[in-house]
Amino acid sequence: MFEKPETTAEAPIEIARYAVFGQPIAHSRSPAIHRMFAQAEHVALRYDAIEASPAEFPRKLAQFAADGGRGANITLPLKSAAHVACRTHGAHAQRSGVANTVTRRDDGTWHGDNTDGLGLVADIAERHRLDLRGRRTLVLGAGGAAQAVLSALLEAGVESIVIANRTPERADALADRIGEPSRVHTAYWDALRDAGAFDFVLNATSAGHAGSALDLPFSLFAPRALAYDMNYGKAAIGFTAWARAGEAGHVVDGLGMLVEQAAESFRIWHGRRPDTEPVYQQLRRETAA
Ligand code: NDP
Repeated sequence: MFEKPETTAEAPIEIARYAVFGQPIAHSRSPAIHRMFAQAEHVALRYDAIEASPAEFPRKLAQFAADGGRGANITLPLKSAAHVACRTHGAHAQRSGVANTVTRRDDGTWHGDNTDGLGLVADIAERHRLDLRGRRTLVLGAGGAAQAVLSALLEAGVESIVIANRTPERADALADRIGEPSRVHTAYWDALRDAGAFDFVLNATSAGHAGSALDLPFSLFAPRALAYDMNYGKAAIGFTAWARAGEAGHVVDGLGMLVEQAAESFRIWHGRRPDTEPVYQQLRRETAA
C-alpha cells in the first residue's frame, strides 16, 4: 500500500510496526482496516496478523517488541493474557480485566487499553444516532466481549444491565467484577421469558458462528427497542433475523463496532481519530458481496 521508503547510507528509515494477535487470525479484518486508516491519514506503518496460542503469546509479544513492534490489537482467545502482559492499564481495561489494544512504552513495558466498549457506544450513538441513556439493557453472553463493554455502557448512561449467560456462573462473576449491584444484575437464561421487556438487547454471544439459534422470546423487546449483535456477516444472520421478526425498532450488526474500536486503537497509537465512514462502507460492501 505504501511505497517502500527511500533509505540513506547514514539513516535507514524504519516503518513503525503494528499487528493483531489471535488464534485463529487469518480471517481478521484488522490489518485491512488499519492499512486503510493509515493511508487516509498519511501514516506510514506495517500491520501484520500474528497467530499465537495463549501459551505462546508472551514469547511472541516479546519477539514482536524486539522486532520493533509498537502496538498491537488483541483478539480471541488472548485478551486476558494481554491484560496480564501489560504493566499499566487504561480505565476500561482495568475495569474489565481484558485488553484489546497494547502499546509499547519507551521503557519497554506494555500499556493495555480496551476500545471495544467505546467502539460499541460510538457506533450506536454516532453512526446510528441512538441515545443509550435510560435504556433497560439485556446483555446476552458473559465472555470476553461482554466483559469488555459493560463499563462503557454504564458510562454511556444505560439505566441498568441484566446479564444472562448459558453458563450462569460466568454471568455472576462478571457482575461481581463490575461491582455496581444497584445497576448490574444477572438472570438465568431459562428465566428470560419472565424477565420483562428491554429497551436494548445486546448479543455478545458467539452462538452465531456455529449457526446456533438462541431460542429467546419476542417479549424481550420493548417498543422501539434496539437489538444489537456484536457479530457481523454470516454469524449475525440468526440474531438479526430473530430481532426483525420480533419487531425490534432498530436492528444493528457489529460491523460498525469493529471499525470504531479500530479507530480508537488508531487514535491511541497515532494521536488522531480517522474518519471511519469510508472504511465502514468499504467493509459493508465486502460483507454483502
Ligand atoms: P467468548 O468465547 O469469550 O464468549 C462466548 C460467549 O458466547 C459466552 O458467553 C458463551 O457462553 C456464549 N455462547 C457460545 N455459544 C452459545 C450458544 N449456543 N448459546 C448461548 N450462548 C453461547 O467470545 P467473546 O466474548 O470474545 O466474543 C463474543 C462474540 O462477539 C464473538 O462472536 C466475537 O466475534 C464478537 N465480537 C465482536 C466484536 C466487534 O468489534 N464487532 C468485538 C469482540 C467480539 P458460555 O459462557 O456458556 O460458554
